[in-house]
Amino acid sequence: TTALVWLRRDLRCDDHAALYHALRRHTQVYCAFVFDTTILDALPSREDRRVAFIHASVAELHRGLQQLAASSGAPGGGLIVRHGPAEACIVQLARDLGVDEVLVNRDYEPEARARDQRVAAALQAHGIAFSDHKDQALLDRDEVLTRQGQPYSVFTPYKRAWLQQLDAFQLKAYPVARHARHLAPPPPGERLPPLAELGFAPTNLATLPLPTGMQGAQRLLQDFLPRMAAYHQARDYPGRKGVSYLSVHLRFGTVSIRQLAALAARQAEEGSEGAQTWLSELAWRDFYFMILWHHPHVVTQCFKPECERVQWDEAPALWQAWCEARTGYPLVDAAMRQLHQTGYMHNRLRMVVASFLTKDLGIDWRRGERHFAEHLNDYDLAANNGGWQWAASTGCDAQPWFRIFNPITQSQRFDPEGRFIRRYLPELARVPDAHIHFPAAMKPLELAACGLQLGVDYPLPVVDHARARERTLMRFTPL
Ligand code: FAD
Repeated sequence: TTALVWLRRDLRCDDHAALYHALRRHTQVYCAFVFDTTILDALPSREDRRVAFIHASVAELHRGLQQLAASSGAPGGGLIVRHGPAEACIVQLARDLGVDEVLVNRDYEPEARARDQRVAAALQAHGIAFSDHKDQALLDRDEVLTRQGQPYSVFTPYKRAWLQQLDAFQLKAYPVARHARHLAPPPPGERLPPLAELGFAPTNLATLPLPTGMQGAQRLLQDFLPRMAAYHQARDYPGRKGVSYLSVHLRFGTVSIRQLAALAARQAEEGSEGAQTWLSELAWRDFYFMILWHHPHVVTQCFKPECERVQWDEAPALWQAWCEARTGYPLVDAAMRQLHQTGYMHNRLRMVVASFLTKDLGIDWRRGERHFAEHLNDYDLAANNGGWQWAASTGCDAQPWFRIFNPITQSQRFDPEGRFIRRYLPELARVPDAHIHFPAAMKPLELAACGLQLGVDYPLPVVDHARARERTLMRFTPL
């Protein structure tokens, strides 16, 4: 029998659930990726690092599949690449290849779920089976439930149950190579269209410390492994290299979550506090997939329905200032520049800028969430939505809404010498450490001493934090 594995956000050929099941069940297995015009046409810019990342990773995956086939003596192997509406492309391809089954790895996003249901129905009409497999998450859907059989809505008890259930079986890699002899060669004439043919321009991706593809992911992992033990101490400081930078690889599946979690679990068992903390971060990822699966309304609405009553401000000038890194709060502005220049933003800063937008500027979390969706390399609906709703206090956590981040004290705590700020705001390079967190508090002589003209070289603060805080308390009071 014959199968087609349709790869989407799982761009690797090792430890891959759908590929493994296809190779076990069938004697001829094709692999395909579609540059989906339904998604690509909706992107706001023709210069998109994500598309460039995927393009490079797909090229590497094609070579990876060829090597895998060659090493097991199969005649071919490789990736079939299409450019068009994914649903129609896959149904057509499955029919042209005459396959018996199409296999995918499960996607938790409502639109993707609806798409997969339509594809399954269309394939069924042609007598072709469709199956989806857990691969992106370690534990998904109903695997972690409360004693009452309900999905969790608070992270800490979820994590406790998640850790209890995360056993050796869940962490075991799928041994794809063992069955690779069933890989089928793509039909003759297949090629990977260059980026320009897909309608996209080159980006600055190659200049960033972000290697692409499966090999890139392993390079970042090797770099992180010796640092994992110190993760719990270093992870909150954006000026230090404390985190893994693997999020984009997890987003596009160029690395297996099982490989990462197994490494962390082993170190955690040996007593590494850093590994325990990192494993908790991977639990957050599963948590938000689970929330999105059970509560798809969060895509457009607050997790807590009562929060729909909150009156947000339109505030066009403040919105522009936030987007353009001109708020007058250096940590916020440096973070926004990091986002626009690199497509990455450190987790602590995501929390700070999201809190600033919603609690200092009084702007709806949905607008900030969309802005992140346009710019983050690792943009993931579940984690992004979860993070924004957490910051706005509209989400699924026990955090009270009156806990409001102070952008100045956050800066003093987590970028004490202003190392991160100076990297992205060179105009503040000469400002002494004591004032780097809020130059607006400097006296005229101090400003003159470092040659800084506020309102000219660097903006005055767009809001007063103490007053903004009072307004937010009022905004949430009727709840
Ligand atoms: P590390 O600290 O090395 O963590 C390892 C991995 O754990 C990450 O790669 C990620 O997959 C996962 N992880 C860590 N924290 C979280 C979290 N809070 N929620 C879910 N998964 C987590 N993460 C995304 O992957 N995509 C997003 O679009 C996204 N948007 C966010 C928006 C906001 C407002 C906030 C507060 C957080 C968001 N996060 C998002 C979570 C987190 O900021 C990033 O995963 C992390 O900064 C990525 O860097 P890293 O890979 O070096 O992380």
